[in-house]
Amino acid sequence: AERGKAVERVHERRAKYVAGAQSTYYETPVQMVRGWRHWLYDSAGRRYLDLINNVAVVGHSHPALTAAAARQMALLNTNSRFLYDAMGEYAERLADTLPEELHTFFFVNSGSEAVDLAVQLARVYTGRRSVVVIEGAYHGWTSDVFALDTLPHDRPRWREELDEHVHVAETPDPYRGRHGARVEPYLESVRRACAEAGPGGGVAAFVVEPLLGSQGGIVPPPGYLAGAYAAVREAGGVCIADEIQVGMGRTGSAFWAFEGQGATPDIVVAAKATGNGHPIGVVACRPEIAAGFGRRAGFFSSTGGGPVSCRVGTAVLDVLRDERLPENARTVGTHLGAELNALAARFPEIGAVYGEGLYRGVDIVEPGADKKPAPAAATQICERMFELGVVIQPTGVELNVLKIKPPLCFDNAAADYFLAQFTRVLEERAQSRMAMTRSVHRHPTTTQGCR
Ligand code: PMP
Repeated sequence: AERGKAVERVHERRAKYVAGAQSTYYETPVQMVRGWRHWLYDSAGRRYLDLINNVAVVGHSHPALTAAAARQMALLNTNSRFLYDAMGEYAERLADTLPEELHTFFFVNSGSEAVDLAVQLARVYTGRRSVVVIEGAYHGWTSDVFALDTLPHDRPRWREELDEHVHVAETPDPYRGRHGARVEPYLESVRRACAEAGPGGGVAAFVVEPLLGSQGGIVPPPGYLAGAYAAVREAGGVCIADEIQVGMGRTGSAFWAFEGQGATPDIVVAAKATGNGHPIGVVACRPEIAAGFGRRAGFFSSTGGGPVSCRVGTAVLDVLRDERLPENARTVGTHLGAELNALAARFPEIGAVYGEGLYRGVDIVEPGADKKPAPAAATQICERMFELGVVIQPTGVELNVLKIKPPLCFDNAAADYFLAQFTRVLEERAQSRMAMTRSVHRHPTTTQGCR
């Protein structure tokens, strides 16, 4: 009871002083007090499997990161206008993961800032303003980036509010998209969006996640990214890969998701996982794009790329390499994907399984209703999973896709724990549907009432 009161006090103080728009998970918000690897612990000491923290890419509370941050914090943390080696060292390590043409870096504090800067870079470089995005995308909250957001959950009125400089191409979604897995019509949609940008001076940039994370981890049809980049370049635009959710080894096939899709962008933005929770945003670009920006204005972010951030960023790369976490994402992700597909064959509530490696989406549908998204069912499943000790949340345009993006130290035992609980929930739901059908058949009047 004491602990319950303490949680209530935390909740009350937050509700009193923090804007309601800063939302919380679950109807009854939860107080997590500790994280360790891919586990979270609440204030009652209960343990939950963490399927949502792609930010804590190497796992919660990794001692190597704590040590790196503490060491540098005790020495010096200053702004980037002094010379210190941590920034060059971090840039060099990032460069090792990227193609040679993308070895020029900017450092900021968050994903939104990184996308914002990338779009500014593209606008200055091309001398144009228009940006092409795809439907159902989220890229951040700053004014210029919010103008690009098309995910209803984060921006319900995006269609009405759409800026004249933003042009929206179709989501290359093999399951729900109008053109199925045929790539050409989706490329045509990108060309159309670029053409629409023409009257306003032409397209400056195309921003997309190489794997469609905000939509639930959808893998575009083969050839989409390369074809879309070719179309945008043909129209004179710059291609920006938002790797904030899907990059840094998560897909297992490559360190960056764009590599797995066989295409190279002109600008890459990374955040979240970069600092394992410490705020670090990275923009990697072609040198000529950065040079043009420098001629227009100097660039300075007070805390972006500071010594502590760069040490943490380097430590994250060390752990990813030393613990072979991208390889782990591939092996555990392959097991998880195969088992999820087996569940999809067994339970009609699963319409499709998306993703690669340890970025997976499970599309929840109304059984027998031809792919009809079931957001209420997705929420119920998440609530029940929470009772069973698993933290998972829905995403996607219809909020019906369960997203699985745990820390990359996630192992087979953790995957099996999740799969066992998920199977149990799906079985419970199938049984209660059957019970309902039986009672409806026994009492025809109820059926009428239900209509
Ligand atoms: N791009 C994508 C794909 C994201 O998922 C997010 C965060 N949800 C952002 C950009 C913005 O990052 P941040 O929250 O660090 O500003």
